[in-house]
Amino acid sequence: MDAEIIIAGAGPAGIAAAVALARRRRDLAEAGRIVCFDKARFPREKPCGGGLTGHARAALESLQLAVRVPAVPCRSGRIVYGTEARTVALERPVDVVRREEFDADLVVQARSQGVIVVEAEGVMSHEVDRARGVVRVTTSKGRRLLARVLIGADGAGSRVRKQLLAGEPELRARPLRLFKLEIPAPRPFADEMIYDFSPMKCGLRGYVWLFPVAGGRLNVGAMHTSASAHGLGSGDILRILDRTLARHGVTLPSTARGWPAWPYTPRARLAGPHVLCVGDAAGIDALTGEGIAVGLEHGLVAAEAVEHALNSGDLSFATYTRRVRLATVGRELALDRRLARCLYGPRASRFWLSLVMFDRRMRELYASRVCGSEVLADKSASLLAALARHIVAAPLRLRRLSRAD
Ligand SMILES: Cc1cc2nc3c(=O)[nH]c(=O)nc-3n(C[C@H](O)[C@H](O)[C@H](O)COP(=O)(O)OP(=O)(O)OC[C@H]3O[C@@H](n4cnc5c(N)ncnc54)[C@H](O)[C@@H]3O)c2cc1C
Repeated sequence: MDAEIIIAGAGPAGIAAAVALARRRRDLAEAGRIVCFDKARFPREKPCGGGLTGHARAALESLQLAVRVPAVPCRSGRIVYGTEARTVALERPVDVVRREEFDADLVVQARSQGVIVVEAEGVMSHEVDRARGVVRVTTSKGRRLLARVLIGADGAGSRVRKQLLAGEPELRARPLRLFKLEIPAPRPFADEMIYDFSPMKCGLRGYVWLFPVAGGRLNVGAMHTSASAHGLGSGDILRILDRTLARHGVTLPSTARGWPAWPYTPRARLAGPHVLCVGDAAGIDALTGEGIAVGLEHGLVAAEAVEHALNSGDLSFATYTRRVRLATVGRELALDRRLARCLYGPRASRFWLSLVMFDRRMRELYASRVCGSEVLADKSASLLAALARHIVAAPLRLRRLSRAD
């Protein structure tokens, strides 16, 4: 056997799974048998808003990984719709990092915990040999390696996931589209995260963000959920992004690039014998398009499942999809999938948008999730109370929303 565990991808999800396993199974780490392959060489380009929320912080702490790269601590978030804006304080700041720097440093830290990271060599395909109890992995350099477990942490376009689900009916939802660019800030910006929902009136099913980055720069972008095949095209989204940024006094020096990402679908299978998926390979947050905290938390769940499988000898991972669904990360993703359908859905979106804009307690509740002090999926009573309040207040709030257009 070449390795006990091979991990395809050394982004946050792959590194979290690898480090969590190295901590649980020191014997494997000391023998160099936890091996991550990444097709890129670090630092590699990674499109992302780079916001490390409270849940990301907590996961990093439990993995004894530190944020050692430049970060801008944002102590508030501002949500905007037309002429209306609301600021919500964050009891713990969200640190905005540059993913290129952050991910490269995580690789360095993982190596110091005994994880082997092989760069510039991707996982091309795998084959499960159930009789021998192994998975055979072929890399981009033509190596054929044997392992007991393969973890697919190879991001949104995951080859591992595609091969896992080959021939099965497609359960995954339509992809989100995310566009991003980092630019010099044209004027001083406060250390706060801006989420602008104004373009929803032009058909964007998502938002435009402006986050401060170290060195007087801005990370700007747009997220769009394509609920149907006949939604906005990339050109439309880029025009919307340009127009929205102009209202914040920002002109883009060049065109933002777009990437697809598939949202998490609770029913879709995440594992098969000897193989399991984490992070974007398993699905991103449909409400916000966020996935750093998700990937880190997901890596922890995967490591627990792999340790259990190695100890019990049952490498079927038959319960892994359910295990993720019941974990905090899965429950939060499932809730956000429902909230995304409300907020970005074709019919009632203004009803939900006016709730987000004008219900202070709802915004504070969401902020406490962002800070990591609450799990929103455990707050159904508070969410229902917010909905009840909103049903009463909606006529007035909807009028205010119309005036803000
Ligand atoms: C424009 C944009 C903005 C975003 N903004 C935010 C944000 O503000 N906050 C947030 O939390 N999330 C954000 N996200 C999402 C976040 O970037 C991802 O959810 C997160 O990076 C997922 O981590 P991951 O480890 O699963 O995947 P990745 O970080 O994508 O890592 C996957 C790794 O796998 C490697 N790889 C790919 N194929 C192979 C292969 N075949 N073999 C080996 N290696 C392979 C890649 O090189 C990469 O290093 C954004 C995404 C986009 C596109």
